[in-house]
Amino acid sequence: MTRDGETLTKTPEEDAERRWVALMMKTARKYHKLCPYFDKKTTQCLLMVTVEGRVGRCDRDGKYDGCPILVKFLERLYRYHVERGRVLPRDFQDVVNQAFIV
Ligand code: SF4
Repeated sequence: MTRDGETLTKTPEEDAERRWVALMMKTARKYHKLCPYFDKKTTQCLLMVTVEGRVGRCDRDGKYDGCPILVKFLERLYRYHVERGRVLPRDFQDVVNQAFIV
């Protein structure tokens, strides 16, 4: 519910996006203890430029569960694939193996 009493409903597309992001987060745990976009030497976040348009450090020590930067990246990736009619990766490792295309 919103403050003025309206019920917030998600469109089927938003729902599909949310489910896909959740799947990526779940499959990520199979392979990665720490975020694959975390540079341990410099503590830089390698996704920050793509997502926020600036260089920046990871302030989560590479703990990616619930990370808003990673979630935003995955949401963009979802839209990138859907808008182009491309098949969505079914495993986070396929995302990691792709170049930064969004
Ligand atoms: S900010 Fe998020 S996406 Fe960036 S390295 Fe840290 S955990 Fe990964």
